[in-house]
Amino acid sequence: MISQKMQKLVAGSSAIRAMFTEGNRLRELYGKKNVFDFSLGNPNVAVPNQVNEAIVEILDSEDSLALHGYNKSNAGHADVRQAIAENLNERFKTDFSEQNIVMTVGAAGGLNVILKTLLDPGDEVIVFVPFFGEYRNYVANYDGILVEVSPHISDFQPDLLAFAKRISKRTKAVIINTPNNPTGVVYSRETIKKIAEILVEKEQAFDTDIYLISDEPYRELVYDGVTVPFLPHYYQNTLVVYSYSKSLSLPGERIGYLVIPNGCKDSAAIFAGAEVATRILGFVNAPSLQQKIIKKCLHASIDVAYYNRNRETLYHGLKDLGFVCIKPQGAFYLFVKAPIEDDVAFCKMAKRFHILIVPGSAFACPGYFRVAYCVAYETIVNALPVFAKLVNVEEKI
Ligand code: PLP
Repeated sequence: MISQKMQKLVAGSSAIRAMFTEGNRLRELYGKKNVFDFSLGNPNVAVPNQVNEAIVEILDSEDSLALHGYNKSNAGHADVRQAIAENLNERFKTDFSEQNIVMTVGAAGGLNVILKTLLDPGDEVIVFVPFFGEYRNYVANYDGILVEVSPHISDFQPDLLAFAKRISKRTKAVIINTPNNPTGVVYSRETIKKIAEILVEKEQAFDTDIYLISDEPYRELVYDGVTVPFLPHYYQNTLVVYSYSKSLSLPGERIGYLVIPNGCKDSAAIFAGAEVATRILGFVNAPSLQQKIIKKCLHASIDVAYYNRNRETLYHGLKDLGFVCIKPQGAFYLFVKAPIEDDVAFCKMAKRFHILIVPGSAFACPGYFRVAYCVAYETIVNALPVFAKLVNVEEKI
């Protein structure tokens, strides 16, 4: 029999798996065109050509044993890490070297590596609601305690008074995700500055170190000229978790990196810890070929304009129908107020109309639903008349 802990986790994750299975079942029954699957954050914009070209070049030019072998360091290939560091230096006027970069198995791998490195059992990790539901599992993996901070519902920026109150002597880390999954909100410079001020104040009051973990797989997916503040500039004890899953449409390849700035308290120990955590979590090192591809694709990008057209059409389309939501500035999600209080019931109802969406409860924010618009444009256009049937659903219950 599997462990009791795992039995609970399997039961808890069945809703999302069920949605996945349900999508496939509906597609088989009614045809792909008649199912509107907005459930997954799986990119649909083409992978840049440079990625495939890089694969061919690498296979043609690199020694195959070295390429496919264990890396010399569990942190990853030194040349790749140095190239990433220099790219960051160019973009953010920083002074990183390979010694600040650890290659990871996507952002999920990076978050697990850093939480394993930082947490003792009972340490608290603050998250801002709504948040990527997997944070619950990642923090629980290391016997940490998740502490939730509610947002201002008007704009989904964090409630900073509530934040200050929730910091305790046991607070070891704060996870921040901007652009945000599920709201698409980019936290303002003002918000970031205030978060930093509060953290400095609390570190002094409690005589502790509190790490800000910036989970930023959506950094490049922004609209209307918005820029995402680079958090190490605002708060010294910042660790960055980056991923190419969304920015290069490579989620199945599992590649990303951690930035551990020198300015961060105990940075050398954190780097050493992350290297060991990468090994003992069983990743050993991030996929070798993928690392080499990234080095050749540091200037590559996907067609963000495609997501932008989806965003505009879906946002205006839903608003015109009477749905209430804020216009996202980044990522590829819309977080919409459910027309009835019970978001889970609403999403079940939507399924009857072949619309697959995720209840806000999955992000610790009931009463809302998430629409992932990383789908074909036609799916959005064809789904809007179906959403029209759902907006006044209360009357039909
Ligand atoms: N963090 C957030 C906020 C995400 O939305 C996701 C994936 O959707 C991840 C982390 C994990 O991404 P990756 O595929 O890089 O592991």
